[in-house]
Amino acid sequence: MDRGRVFGAVFGAAAADAVGASFEGLMPDDSRIPEMTGGGQFSLAAGEVTDDTLMMLVLLETYADAGYYSRELFFSKMIQTIRARPKTFGNTTRTLASLAEQGCSLTEAAKITDRLFGSRTNGSAMRTLPIGLTAVSAEAAAAEGRRVSAFTHIDCEAQDACAAVSSAVYSLLHGASKEEVLSAVPEKYLNGELYPSVDALEATRCAFCIFRDAESYTDAVSRACRLGGDTDTIGAISGGMCGALYGIEAVPKQWIDLLDVKERLTLAVEQVLKRSAGNE
Ligand SMILES: [Mg+2]
Repeated sequence: MDRGRVFGAVFGAAAADAVGASFEGLMPDDSRIPEMTGGGQFSLAAGEVTDDTLMMLVLLETYADAGYYSRELFFSKMIQTIRARPKTFGNTTRTLASLAEQGCSLTEAAKITDRLFGSRTNGSAMRTLPIGLTAVSAEAAAAEGRRVSAFTHIDCEAQDACAAVSSAVYSLLHGASKEEVLSAVPEKYLNGELYPSVDALEATRCAFCIFRDAESYTDAVSRACRLGGDTDTIGAISGGMCGALYGIEAVPKQWIDLLDVKERLTLAVEQVLKRSAGNE
């Protein structure tokens, strides 16, 4: 794996999340300039990340600590994170966590959450990127993406979104070009109107179309911010893929330095890379 692409993916996602969060829920605006200023609907500090990066970090730290996707370890880290920083988490993840804390089994909690509210939201696609760092093939990444999605989001569209993003990230981290990645992306993510909503299919379509059309990492973040709607999640998914494609040098250093989880992300990535090197 290319280290520049790995760090580009992780910090590209986190920086785009923190920048996009300033514009979450707003109307489209083609004059919007992406800056890491904080604010937005959650009154965030500059560099404060949201659920997208926090959940990605939880998954990354699960792989770093266990060496594989341990559902129980992931759950305990997720609960700690939601308790410590609850304000940006979405309904599906919060409901699942609450049911499981009340004693519901994890499998049953996911089913009940889906029955109560549906789980076709982008809360699993936002965290799926680390699977691309740990899988042994694009196909394995897709399968693991479905498994990790089903922990909170069992809806087929949520699982499809995780499979597509995980497999694209795997390919990018192993040197694939934009064209090679796009040739494997399902058509439903590359055709159709862009609606920057929290829906798993719509948000993932926005992210893949931004990845396809952007000419640089910062261009991708601009495009996500200008679309409005779920700017932080669409920014995080497209920013992660563009960071993987263009490498860490393409992600503005001043954005990375402001991130409130910079050290934790760096440590977790280093640990995951060390494990992968040990397994080769
Ligand atoms: Mg968010």
